[in-house]
Amino acid sequence: MSDAVLLTPGPLTTEAEVKAAMQVDWGSWDGAFNDLTASVCRDLVAIVGAERDHDCVPLQGSGTFAVEAALGTLVPRSGKVLVPDNGAYCQRIARILGCLGREARVMPFAEDAAVDPDRIDAALSTDPAITHVALVHCETSTGILNPLEAIGAVVAAHGRRLIVDAMSSFGALPIDARTLAFDALIAASGKCLEGVPGMGFVIARRDVLDGSTGQAHSLALDLADQWQYLRRTGQWRFTPPTHVVAALRVAIDRYRTQGGQAARLARYAGNCAALLDGMRALGFAPFLPRHLQAPIIVTFHSPPDPAYDFGQFYRRVRERGFVLYPGKLTRVETFRVGCIGAIDAATLRRAVEAIGATVREMGIRRIAP
Ligand SMILES: *Cc1c(COP(=O)(O)O)cnc(C)c1O
Repeated sequence: MSDAVLLTPGPLTTEAEVKAAMQVDWGSWDGAFNDLTASVCRDLVAIVGAERDHDCVPLQGSGTFAVEAALGTLVPRSGKVLVPDNGAYCQRIARILGCLGREARVMPFAEDAAVDPDRIDAALSTDPAITHVALVHCETSTGILNPLEAIGAVVAAHGRRLIVDAMSSFGALPIDARTLAFDALIAASGKCLEGVPGMGFVIARRDVLDGSTGQAHSLALDLADQWQYLRRTGQWRFTPPTHVVAALRVAIDRYRTQGGQAARLARYAGNCAALLDGMRALGFAPFLPRHLQAPIIVTFHSPPDPAYDFGQFYRRVRERGFVLYPGKLTRVETFRVGCIGAIDAATLRRAVEAIGATVREMGIRRIAP
């Protein structure tokens, strides 16, 4: 396996320092590892200014494990969750709630439209049974940005609870617990923090965790139990992903040295602009209007030319050193290019060159839809 650049929503291209941090074997019972966990959790809470009311509960597994743990632990069995739906990760939340036997009301939006706070407001006004709203901040299936602050204000005004899937935005887009009321904010090690995958985490209100004892449907995904055990012993329940935590420690150190959230957002915005400019010059059309596009991942329409085939296109761009990502939309043929990871605008310009060379090599003439 050569080291191709990953232009995907995770796993991502990581810095050499982050990979090097995985050269050490940690004992899960050892005090030094407990300190490592505690310091990582402390820093994750601080990134969103949530020290006053929230704790970070880490969880083994990919991001979806943490989403399922948060919903299963923090939503009472009698709860009802409003799920605004403008993409595949919203639909995954609805599916999880179905598996958990929690009532859900799915509110559909077009895949190229942001979730509308007015419609959330109307639903909360007319349906008093809704206890929670579960929102995806950046819908990674298209790259669309949902208006988290405005939706949070509506949910708070109705006295309901907010659970946010901030998987692909945490660390890059501004989120501030001092101005946004949420019960839980869910993310993972291997996205905008640029660690390696393997650990999810939930920034959850302490009073909500405290009141959630015995509510989970699952032992392994019981966030309240994980939290209590961690507080009591400093240890994870069950084998922790030690190397992942060690890599995340270094990734967060790098994040802070590089200037934190503002600097990360600026770099990703530069990546996204270089990608959009270059791809437009080649004739590719982005799926989203610019004002709805988060600088995380960009969806492009597939060329309508009969010479285009995603499998071929992917393989040839891969041979030139860049890993693209397939589309995730049902209505239209698309592919995606990620802007996140330890890459800069020059990397994206080289990726555009590789895509241009591939287009010529494959004899693709009609590029715009
Ligand atoms: C990556 C991601 C997830 C989690 O996906 P996993 O494959 O389980 O890591 C959840 N929600 C969003 C918005 C994501 O981008």
